Amino acid sequence: MAAPEEGLPAVDAPRVRAPFVVVKCKDCSKEHVIFSRPASPVNCSICGAPLASPTGGRGNFLGEVVRTVA
Ligand SMILES: [Zn+2]
Repeated sequence: MAAPEEGLPAVDAPRVRAPFVVVKCKDCSKEHVIFSRPASPVNCSICGAPLASPTGGRGNFLGEVVRTVA
């Protein structure tokens, strides 16, 4: 029998359950509240610098994650 989980990445259960994170832009220090699992790239609304990129799960945050927002 084929292993049903073959091809699925071994991902740790997410420890951060908060749906939103506050990410500070590296370029202009503007803080943005963005979804923790973005479906599309998120850019700074002020200067356009990338803040997060989608990974299929929890986003890859390119700015400083200041805190999470429940
Ligand atoms: Zn910015």
